[in-house]
Amino acid sequence: MVSVDCSGCEGLCCRNHVIFLCPSDLKDFEKLGLNPVDYLFLGPVDELTSRFSDVLIDGKYFYLTLKRRKNGYCVFARKENKNIECIIYDDRPLTCRLYPLKLTSKKRIAKRGGIVCPLTVDKNQSKEKVTYLNDRIQREIKTYGEKAFEWNKNGGGSLKELINYLLK
Ligand code: SF4
Ligand code: SF4
Repeated sequence: MVSVDCSGCEGLCCRNHVIFLCPSDLKDFEKLGLNPVDYLFLGPVDELTSRFSDVLIDGKYFYLTLKRRKNGYCVFARKENKNIECIIYDDRPLTCRLYPLKLTSKKRIAKRGGIVCPLTVDKNQSKEKVTYLNDRIQREIKTYGEKAFEWNKNGGGSLKELINYLLK
């Protein structure tokens, strides 16, 4: 995992970003005994331009992401003193583990584009960790895309069937 110093930030990323979930995230959550009903939000696809993860559920297309509370925060974010903490920190989704960093096409560590994170990039960050996570995410996206394609080609199904399919 990459390490960033988030002290003083009220978890802006946990409130503002849509967190896509990959099959490996669902597997990690299953090991924690979490029920998809409690954390999963089905986003309507017409809100997004990225469609690799669209899945056909009961005749309509959705993307899978984390539920949010009314205040905008992810369901796993909890206020501790003045800080926001992630209650599944060690098992948080891959996207969250790499945020706010990314690997550029020239294999340099950079800060992810977007609106929220006030951090400056730590030049001493372990390139091995960032590369490892970046490669893992890319593999997961590819696997998910292939699985979603097969699922949709076969006409989709219910959410429960989809979860079982993705957990296989
Ligand atoms: S899973 Fe944790 S790190 Fe990721 S958005 Fe939710 S609270 Fe933040
Ligand atoms: S927005 Fe940046 S500083 Fe704030 S919690 Fe997220 S990663 Fe940390």
